[in-house]
Amino acid sequence: MLSGIAVDTHCKRISNRIGLSKEKDPSKIEQDLLKQIDKSDYKDVNHLFIWHGRYTCKSQNPLCEKCTIKHMCSHYKNNV
Ligand code: SF4
Repeated sequence: MLSGIAVDTHCKRISNRIGLSKEKDPSKIEQDLLKQIDKSDYKDVNHLFIWHGRYTCKSQNPLCEKCTIKHMCSHYKNNV
């Protein structure tokens, strides 16, 4: 079983936008995520961030109105 979450560019951007972490440093973001995500889901987190970042929470133009997790997103609450 994996013991951590790899914080790549998608994971970093989405974690900051949603409000899962305010940190910029990947290792600090990982620590914030580890506290909020169930251990059994660690193995799926990176795939979810990659797919969500690629098709919905895009870097330049996130598709917030179509996003299925907008109800829990800080960016949506504060900026859309
Ligand atoms: S509501 Fe927008 S900013 Fe928030 S996770 Fe969805 S696409 Fe990203």
